[in-house]
Formats: sequence, structure tokens, C-alpha cells
Amino acid sequence: MSDSCIFCKIASGEIPSNKVYETNKVIAFLDLNPASEGHVLVIPKCHGQKIKDIPDDYLSEVIVALKKISIGLEKMKGKELDFNILQNNGASSGQVVMHAHFHLIPKESDPSSKELGLKFTTSSLSPKEGELAALAQKIRDCI
Ligand code: 5GP
Ligand code: ZN
Repeated sequence: MSDSCIFCKIASGEIPSNKVYETNKVIAFLDLNPASEGHVLVIPKCHGQKIKDIPDDYLSEVIVALKKISIGLEKMKGKELDFNILQNNGASSGQVVMHAHFHLIPKESDPSSKELGLKFTTSSLSPKEGELAALAQKIRDCI
């Protein structure tokens, strides 16, 4: 619990939120500035900025919550949806609220839908032959 953290205050109920799901370790609520209808934030109930700061049992429950809520959103909409699940992990990645959280952003499967959702593009570094294999080996050595 961090006194200055807005998401800790939401987790404790000190600040109201539009809650959609809760367990002992996790709470999920609607994002105030949704990218699409049903944009939910799922957070662990313990404070930590990055994924590496969150205990495994809390993180595991966050993932299960994402699954449950995505199924609930489909039930609400009466159809299958697509989703972006986004986790900004640190300021340069776009994290603004420094309490680890996952965005669950529904996308209409119909591309002509007016809903915005998230546009995600990857930049392309065009690695040379062998570079990916060497990089994978270096990462494996560090895990
Ligand atoms: P980030 O950029 O840190 O990954 O995303 C933070 C998200 O938290 C933003 O999408 C923002 O709209 C949302 N947010 C910030 N403050 C509040 C709040 O007080 N209540 C709710 N429900 N969402 C918030
Ligand atoms: Zn916090």
C-alpha cells in the first residue's frame, strides 16, 4: 500500500471506482478514459510499479481475472470479441499510473465497427541472419 498511489486508494475503497470484479488479491474496474466500451483495468491489490515488483501469486490471479472478465464482456455483448491486453511496464513504455496494471480492451471482430479500440504496430528492426538466435541465447542465459 502506497499512500500517494491512486490505484492503492481504489483497491482499498478510499477512492470510488466502477468495479467489475474482485478477489482477495485482485480488483478490476472500468478505465476512466476508455479506448473502447468495456475497457477494464485489472490490478493486484498490492503496490508495485512493475511486473517484477508483484508477487507471483498476485500476478497469477491477475491473469485468471483477465480471462474471466473477457468471458463476461463477451456474455454482456452476446458475441465473441477480440481483445488487446496491454501492460505498460515503466514510464518510457507509456506507464502513467505507477501501480502495475493490465488494460483489457475489447475490440469488435467486425473491422467496420466504429469502436476505436487500440491500434498496435510493431517497429521492424530487420535483424540479420543469426542475430535472433544469438540474442535468444543471451536472454536464456540470464533467466
Ligand atoms: P497507463 O498509461 O499507466 O498504462 O494507464 C493508466 C490508465 O489509468 C489510463 O488509461 C487512465 O485513463 C486510467 N486512470 C487514471 N486515473 C484513474 C482513476 O482515478 N480511475 C480510473 N478508473 N482510471 C484511471
Ligand atoms: Zn499502488
